[in-house]
Amino acid sequence: MVKITITNPKQSVELEVNENDTIGEVKEKYFQKIGSREFNQWKFMGEVLKNNKTIADYEIEDGDEIEASKESRGGEVGSMAKMLADPEKKGPVKWKTTYDGPDYLIVRKGINLFGYCQNKNCIAYKKEVCHPFGIGTFDLIQDLNSKSNKCPKCPACEYLLLELETCGFMKCKYHYVGKKIENDKIKELNYSNIISEDHILDYFEAGSNGKNKSLFVELKITASNL
Ligand SMILES: [Zn+2]
Repeated sequence: MVKITITNPKQSVELEVNENDTIGEVKEKYFQKIGSREFNQWKFMGEVLKNNKTIADYEIEDGDEIEASKESRGGEVGSMAKMLADPEKKGPVKWKTTYDGPDYLIVRKGINLFGYCQNKNCIAYKKEVCHPFGIGTFDLIQDLNSKSNKCPKCPACEYLLLELETCGFMKCKYHYVGKKIENDKIKELNYSNIISEDHILDYFEAGSNGKNKSLFVELKITASNL
């Protein structure tokens, strides 16, 4: 059971839901409880929730709050706040909430993997894109090279991102261990940190390509819930 709060401009309502409930199912429960279907557009941490995805897909946990609003249609009104990485900035805080940025830079709780889309037909071709990996463990060497189902994809076109630039963490505990070769010397990496605020993205250079001089030979990145 996960206890969440749904807040619309008029009221806040608590609901008990299951991790495997779809957003559509939770909306039905909510509509019955408030006796109205008018607040049909739901957002969690700036992202619009899709009806066919589950509570677990969005990593929604006990105590989290979902923002419900009337579905807006057309023009200006149709634009929604999104939480995006800002590819122009580097450093520990690199996100912004915007109404008009591209969806391929949406960041989410847990691990966010950044690379450049290599698909010539994609709107994000040669642009930095973000694959929100979420909570779990990403192995930079294995998951990229084996093209496993954990391999990050461009969110705009689903092309595999086989080279990563960086990795960002939001609202989670994270840990990475590994080895990299720098100036012909092996350097051991072992680092943990906690990003407790919702909207902070902390960056780690996960460069797997020629732009970064250092070569990772082992690297496991784990994010867990706070
Ligand atoms: Zn793409």
